[in-house]
Amino acid sequence: MSAQTVVLLGPPGAGKGTQAAGLAAESHWPHISTGDILRAAVAAQSPLGLQANGFMERGEYVPDPLIIDLIKERMAAPDARGGVFLDGFPRTAPQAEMLDQLLADLGRQPAVAILVEVARAELIARLSGRLTCQSCQRIYQLTSQPPRHSGICDVCGGTLIQRTDDQPETVARRLAVYDEKTAPLIAFYEQGKRLTAVDGMGSQDQVAARLKEAIGWS
Ligand code: AMP
Repeated sequence: MSAQTVVLLGPPGAGKGTQAAGLAAESHWPHISTGDILRAAVAAQSPLGLQANGFMERGEYVPDPLIIDLIKERMAAPDARGGVFLDGFPRTAPQAEMLDQLLADLGRQPAVAILVEVARAELIARLSGRLTCQSCQRIYQLTSQPPRHSGICDVCGGTLIQRTDDQPETVARRLAVYDEKTAPLIAFYEQGKRLTAVDGMGSQDQVAARLKEAIGWS
């Protein structure tokens, strides 16, 4: 498998995190989620976490300069050399342009993007039933993919929580911010003939199979 930077695009709740984690486990390419990195920074009360917290709680985007510094550091790490799955980044046009520049500077291939498409009503249902492990970030669904023991992560035994930004008012805000700021990236990658759209409805395995086909693994 040649090194690739695969950007998973799509609205919150499309399954990008779940799918990226599965693909990362199969390929040994890391799953880089800016949301996970930011939540860890908030939990650690690091300078980045303290700056990002308010934006995240309101369902707004963290300012580009903070994200750009974070991703530069993460992409330069040795485990990112072979290929990566980016989840939740880029999210704005300046971030996408910066990623192109960064990959050119690192001597890597330009990124390819996969858009995971899911109907809006399904997104809202998924986000409001989503539980996240506080320790390992694994995602569960109350109806379709519940944990074996209520409130406890099957994998690490950590506590499952509802992210504050998965609460209904914030979900509406996040979807609106996605439409305004991230949906235009679809055109950005389409123009460069770097976009493949994948149907994100159906079981986790069905979606995983479509993603692998889009990446050229099957
Ligand atoms: P996610 O886990 O990807 O849904 O991200 C959760 C929250 O983290 C978002 O609602 C934003 O507040 C923030 N965030 C994550 N990634 C980015 C990014 N690339 N640019 C700006 N804000 C981000």
